[in-house]
Amino acid sequence: MSSLFPTYARWDIEPRKASGLKITSETGKEYLDFTSGIGVLNLGHCHEKVKMAVTEQLNKYWHVSNMFQSSIQERTAKMLADASGLSQVFFANSGAEANEAAIKLARKATGKSKIVTCQQSFHGRTFATMAATGQEKIKTGFGPMLASFEYVPFNDHDAMKAAIDENTAAVMIEIVQGEGGIHVVQQSYLDAIQTKCQEHGALLIIDEIQTGIGRTGKPFAFQHFNILPDIITSAKGLGNGLPIGAMIGKEELSVFFDPGSHGSTFGGNPVSVSAAEAVLKETFQSGFLKETVKKAEYLESELAKALNGIEEVKEIRGLGMMVGIECKQDVQVFLMELQEEGLLVLSAGPKVLRLLPSLTVSESEIDTAINKIKKVLAIKQTV
Ligand SMILES: *Cc1c(COP(=O)(O)O)cnc(C)c1O
Repeated sequence: MSSLFPTYARWDIEPRKASGLKITSETGKEYLDFTSGIGVLNLGHCHEKVKMAVTEQLNKYWHVSNMFQSSIQERTAKMLADASGLSQVFFANSGAEANEAAIKLARKATGKSKIVTCQQSFHGRTFATMAATGQEKIKTGFGPMLASFEYVPFNDHDAMKAAIDENTAAVMIEIVQGEGGIHVVQQSYLDAIQTKCQEHGALLIIDEIQTGIGRTGKPFAFQHFNILPDIITSAKGLGNGLPIGAMIGKEELSVFFDPGSHGSTFGGNPVSVSAAEAVLKETFQSGFLKETVKKAEYLESELAKALNGIEEVKEIRGLGMMVGIECKQDVQVFLMELQEEGLLVLSAGPKVLRLLPSLTVSESEIDTAINKIKKVLAIKQTV
């Protein structure tokens, strides 16, 4: 019997090694990885520059605590601030911790407690972020929930406007609901939120944990829209596999996170931050995201062509390298068949196949993946 808590429904694959978008299993089978470790490996497995940066840091020192000055944290924070148009950064170890920091900061800065989030959202598994999450299945058995969260339907303007009032500390929202089924937010919805938040002195928090660090073709997904949030949170792609999260906020919020108000022993540890610095240098360098956008457009158009007319497919949607294929039936069976074919993809909810390839994916890898998806979905049609 396994000595691990059975919290994960694991696949029957154990990796031996991985590089780029290729995973080789212990049995020697090769897989094309369109999961990126759940949107983490934006630069692919074992990226050379990240490996070099981490190795260099490992040779200097691993951990000293946040009692010490850290120019590597300063440099990396500056890159995040510059890329987002915001100003101050708090480093955490995960997405949930970045969201925790955002929720705490929003409450302290506004002196209010209510946080409005969306149905089908996902913000994490800690007590605050689980409460923020708009999915019952995440919360079952763990009650009572942390109080003062309110949930409204995604992209429902009237419901959102009605929920934001003088007691609202913040609205927390994803630009593309990742776990919730790849649903993209509407510009007019964001406009309404921003206006209403400003009216009532509430903060706008964008959860960019899955959408950020180039995943959608911009440094952060909110930049596809004409808004400026007060706070954004980042994690997944930030360390390309090393654990790190970040909360990035406006300069005027600085005073509310004064010394002693919040902290983390491991947050901003130099090894993870060295990975993040290398990731940001690579991803935000001139031309990189242009290339990502081109390949994402290729993926979108080729996928639409290949799946056109396939009975099983209801809708294809997404933003950049975040693609959902909504099917008519439960997709677990397709996921397993695709694994047999040597392609790894995720689901997002019961009926959506989710593709999150590394931003470094090649056109020929996109072609290979699409052919396998077409084969599996088309076979089902004739059964
Ligand atoms: C993955 C995810 C989180 C949680 O991140 P962890 O690192 O697993 O804590 C929060 N929000 C969104 C949108 C995510 O995709």
